[in-house]
Amino acid sequence: MKKYLAITGGVGGAKLALGLTKILSKSEVAFLVNTGDDFEHMGLSISPDLDTLMYTLSGLSNVELGWGRGGETWRCLDAYKKLGGDSWFSLGDEDLAVHLRRTEMLKLGSSLSEVTADLFRHLGVDYSCWPMSDKPVRTQIETEAGRLEFQHYFVRDRCEHVVKSIHFVSSSVAYPTNNLLRYLEDPDLCGIIVCPSNPFLSVDPILSVHGLKEALIASKVPIVAVSPLINGQAVKGPTAKIMKELRLVLSPVSVAAHYQDFINGFILDESDAEHAVEITKSGMSVVTAQTLMASLDDRINLAQTAVNMCDELRGH
Ligand code: GDP
Repeated sequence: MKKYLAITGGVGGAKLALGLTKILSKSEVAFLVNTGDDFEHMGLSISPDLDTLMYTLSGLSNVELGWGRGGETWRCLDAYKKLGGDSWFSLGDEDLAVHLRRTEMLKLGSSLSEVTADLFRHLGVDYSCWPMSDKPVRTQIETEAGRLEFQHYFVRDRCEHVVKSIHFVSSSVAYPTNNLLRYLEDPDLCGIIVCPSNPFLSVDPILSVHGLKEALIASKVPIVAVSPLINGQAVKGPTAKIMKELRLVLSPVSVAAHYQDFINGFILDESDAEHAVEITKSGMSVVTAQTLMASLDDRINLAQTAVNMCDELRGH
């Protein structure tokens, strides 16, 4: 059997993750998810990227909003606001049930991996989806307005502040989970796919976990990343804005360079084909494909391209 690992953040990554689940069974693919965005709010433990993946794979996601659950109601949040509670982070009624359950289980002593497996199973997702660590790592953004917790920067202040640097607090004392380490040693593992997530806010926190990047490299399987930039622009979110603020050239070449020390292959959008030669010069293989995932077929086709690239690189 051939097995793959996919590394993902929230919305962009979950699109490709869904495609992967349409071509690979639950024993053929597992997902490693960013938890640097996790935070405590309204007294609850919230894991936005894990939940985005859970709602996407279970078919429960809110397609119009692009976050949360479809068909949500907001009665609890409305009542909470009337009591003077903070309302900058919108949590729907059914979504709240997930955070209540996660918080309860964590308080009773379960690890985040155990809680995640339980929540996914109850919502009908059979695939292995693992937090990057069971220990908390918190992304903080150093901005011109001072250092901000990730969700304050991202949701409350709508990414308006100019980013100076990004920090992953406690990553040096957070370790990869045993699930991941076992999977990386599985002789059936054929490739690792870095989904088109934000390299700085979604993928870097995962790589910051102590020893995780080294474990990925030590697995000796091809590691292939999909560009989150199309035609020099992000499809959604602050990737392009952050790249400019970090004084990076707004091009997939910069993304490939950012990943250069651990990937072997890069999937470039066909509209950026002109950059293929330059990226190849850094020693990695490049494939061009349609990477905009508007439909389910687009997700499936891109997933197949990524799997094929892993297989080809492994064959060499
Ligand atoms: P977040 O955690 O919810 O911000 O989501 P991610 O970090 O997983 O994804 C954000 C990135 O996904 C952005 O850089 C987008 O450009 C990228 N993205 C979103 N949709 C697509 C798509 O259809 N194709 C590609 N190639 N990238 C996408």
